[in-house]
Amino acid sequence: MYTLCIAGNPNSGKTTLFNALTGAKQHVGNWPGVTVEKKEGRVDYDGLQFNLIDLPGIYSLTAYSMEEVVTRDFILKERPRAVINIVDATNMERNLYLTTQLLELGVPLILVLNMMDEAEKKGLKVKIPYLEKLLGVPVIPMVASRGIGTEELLKKVREILEGNLTIVPRKPRYRKEIESAIWRVEETLRDLLPKAFLEKYPSRWVALKLLEQDEEIIRKCRKEAKDEAHLFSIVNKEIERITKILGDDPETLIADQRYGFASGAFKEAVKITYTDRISLTDQIDKVLTSRLFGIPFFILIIWGSFQLTFTLGEIPMRWIEAGFNVLGDLFYQWITVPWLRSLVVDGIIGGVGSVLVFLPNILILFLIIALLEDTGYMARAAFISDRVMHFFGLHGKSFIPMVIGFGCNVPAVMATRVLENNKDRVITILVVTLMSCSARLPIYVLFAGAFFPKHAGNVVFSIYLLGILLAIVMARFFRLVLFPGESAPFVMELPPYRLPTLKGLMIHMWDRGAMYVQKAGTVILAGSMIVWFLSSYPRHITYSVDYDRLLRQETVRHEKSLTEIAARLKVPRDRLSTFVPFRAYEKAWESFQAERSQQAAKQCDLGGLLKKKEAVFRQIESRYPGTLKLYRAYRNEVERHANIMEELRSKKAAEKASKSYAGRIGRAVAPVLRPLGFDWRNTIALISGLVAKEIVVGTMGVIYQVGEAKNESQKLMENLRKHMTPLTAYVFMVFSLIYLPCIATIGVIRRELNSWKWTLFSASYTTVLAWIVAFLFYHGGRLLGFG
Ligand code: GDP
Ligand code: MG
Repeated sequence: MYTLCIAGNPNSGKTTLFNALTGAKQHVGNWPGVTVEKKEGRVDYDGLQFNLIDLPGIYSLTAYSMEEVVTRDFILKERPRAVINIVDATNMERNLYLTTQLLELGVPLILVLNMMDEAEKKGLKVKIPYLEKLLGVPVIPMVASRGIGTEELLKKVREILEGNLTIVPRKPRYRKEIESAIWRVEETLRDLLPKAFLEKYPSRWVALKLLEQDEEIIRKCRKEAKDEAHLFSIVNKEIERITKILGDDPETLIADQRYGFASGAFKEAVKITYTDRISLTDQIDKVLTSRLFGIPFFILIIWGSFQLTFTLGEIPMRWIEAGFNVLGDLFYQWITVPWLRSLVVDGIIGGVGSVLVFLPNILILFLIIALLEDTGYMARAAFISDRVMHFFGLHGKSFIPMVIGFGCNVPAVMATRVLENNKDRVITILVVTLMSCSARLPIYVLFAGAFFPKHAGNVVFSIYLLGILLAIVMARFFRLVLFPGESAPFVMELPPYRLPTLKGLMIHMWDRGAMYVQKAGTVILAGSMIVWFLSSYPRHITYSVDYDRLLRQETVRHEKSLTEIAARLKVPRDRLSTFVPFRAYEKAWESFQAERSQQAAKQCDLGGLLKKKEAVFRQIESRYPGTLKLYRAYRNEVERHANIMEELRSKKAAEKASKSYAGRIGRAVAPVLRPLGFDWRNTIALISGLVAKEIVVGTMGVIYQVGEAKNESQKLMENLRKHMTPLTAYVFMVFSLIYLPCIATIGVIRRELNSWKWTLFSASYTTVLAWIVAFLFYHGGRLLGFG
C-alpha cells in the first residue's frame, strides 16, 4: 500500500482535505518519541487505495520546532509516493516559502491551491499552467471545505501511483557563490557519508542544511561521517567564505533567496484584479478584539460555553446514569457467584459508569472548542488573554486549557497541544490540574452541605478560587525556577474568520471524545477493579463482635414479637401482613404520609392533619374492634427491626472496610496526614480518589457506616459531623482540590509530555503542595480559634 502525505501551513485546510479524502477511516496517534499529533487515514476511491498522513502545520522546514523535524523526517525516511502540499491561495506568497523547501527535498510534489473561493473574492487570478511550469509540479485549484477539486487531485494521484506521471520538481537555484559552496560540500559528502545515508538524504539538501547550520543535520553527520573533522572544516571554510564575500551568513542569505523565489513565483503566476477595501474579517475584528468589547465578549463566550456544557450535558447524563443502573441490576440478577457479582456490579459497572457519565459534557465541550477553533475565534481568545496570561508566566493560548480544566483535567491536558512552545506546554500542564474539575465538585457539595449549610455556595466558590490562585502562583514560580529567561517570542497568527464545516466539527469532537472513552475503558476500568479488590478483600475477617449472631438473634426476637401479636389477634403468623384491618390502617397511614409531605412542602400546620388521621384510625377500629393497639405495636416492631438490622449491617460493613486491605493501607498512611487533622477514614477516601475523584464520596459512604439507608446522604452527613470538625472538613476540601490528579490525568500527562520525569514531578509536586497548603490552613485555622 502506498503512502502519501499532506503538508502545509497551519490553517491552510490540511485537515479539511484530509477529512474529505479519508472520511471516517482515520486514526489519531502521536509521532513516536514526540508529542506531535499524527493523523493517519485510508483513502479508498474507485479502486484507488492509499494511506494518507495529515502532517502537522508548519511554515518552514528548519529544525526549530518538533513539527518541522517530524515533517522533514517523515518525508525523507518514509519516502511517501507523493507529498500533497496544500497552499492557502489567499496567502500564497507566504505559503510558497514552505513549498520552495519541499521542492528542495526532491520528492514528488502535488501543489493544491486551496481556498480558491476566498481568493477569487479577493480578486486573485492564478495562471495555473504557468505556475505548474515555474515549479515543475502539478497544481490543482481547490475549495476543500466544499470538496471542489478533490476529484482532480485523486486523478493526479492515480496517474502517479500507476506510474504514468513522473514529477521532477524544480529546485530553486541560489547565487553563484552559494551554489559553488553547495557543490563543494556535496563533493565531500559523497566521499565521507555512507551510501545508505545519502539514499535517504539527498546530498544537495544535506549540503544546504550544513551551510545553514541546521542542528539536526549537523548532529546526524557527526554520527555518520567517516572523517567528521574534515567534513566540518570544509563546511566551515565555505561558510566563512560566503560570509566574507556576501556580507551575511549563509543561513540568512539562503532564507532570503527562498523568499525571493516564493515571491517571484507568486508575482509571475498571479494577477490581482482588484482588492477589497476592508475585508469582513477586519471588520469583525475591529469589534471582537477591540479594547472596549474584546474582553466582555470573550468572558461572555467562556461563560456561555460553561453553561452550555453543564446544563445541556446534564440531561443525557441522567440517561447514562439510569442506563448503568439498569445494567447493574441486570447483572446483579444474572450473576449468582457473590464475588463475581460484586466485582462486575460494584467494581466494573459502578466505576466505569461513574466516568462515562461525563461523556456528554466532554463531547459538548469539545464541540464548542472545535467550533471556536474552526471559526478562528480561538486565536482571538488567546490574543485577548495573552497580556494578562504573560503576566502570570503563561502564554495566551494557555487560557483555553485552563478553562477546560474546570470540566475535566484530561481534555485540558490534551488541549495544551495548541501551545507550540514546549516550555509553555509543560508549565500549563503542571498548573492545569489545579483547576478544580467537575469530579471534585461532589466532595465539596457533601462537605459544604454537612458543615456549612448556610454558606455552602460561598465555601465551594472559595475552593475554586483557591485553585485559580495557586495555579497563578505556581505558574510564575515554575517560569522563574524551571525555565528561567524570557519565553520565546511568538507571533500570534490571526486567521480569517470562516464558517466551519459540520464534518470537520464532528470529526474534531469525536477524535477527542474517543480518547475519553478509551480512558474509561482502560485506566478507570483497571483502577475501579483495584479499588474494589482492596476494599472487599480479605473476604473473611474476624469481627470484634459476632454480627451474624446478633443479626440472627434479632431476627428470632422479631419473629417472636410478631407471633405474639398474631396470637392475640387470633390470625396465623404468615397472614399477619395481609390481615384485612391492618391493610386498612396501612392504607390510611400511607395516604396521610403523602398528604403530609405535600403539606410540609407548603409549610402548613400539621396538627389538623394528625387529627384527621386519628379519626380515620378510630373509624377502622370501630369496624374491627381491638385491632388499633395491636396494629400500633406491629408497626413499631417492624420499624424497630428494620433500624436494628440496618445498624448492625452497616457496623459490620464499616468494620469490614476498616479491616480490608484498603483500610489497612489507610491506617498505615494515616500518620502522614495526621498533622493535617485527618484520620484513617479520610486517608482511605483520599487514596481512593487517586483512581478518580468521583470515587471519594462513595468511599466515604462505605467507611462512615452508611449501609443501605434510605436517606443516605443525610446519614452520611450526620456521621461526618461526628468524626470531623468544620475546620478539618474545609482542610479536606482544600487537600482534595490540590493533591495528585486522578490516574487518567496522570496517564494523559505522560502521553502528552512523553516523559516519566515530568509526570512524576506533576504527581509529586501537587501532593506536596496539597500537604503544605492543608497544613497551613489547619494550623492557621486552629490559631484563629476554629476547630
Ligand atoms: P489545517 O490547520 O491546515 O488543518 O486547516 P483546517 O483544515 O483545520 O482548516 C482551517 C479552516 O479553513 C477551517 O475552518 C476550514 O473549514 C476552512 N477551510 C478549509 N478549506 C477551505 C476552503 O477551500 N475554503 C474556505 N472558505 N474555507 C476553507
Ligand atoms: Mg489540522
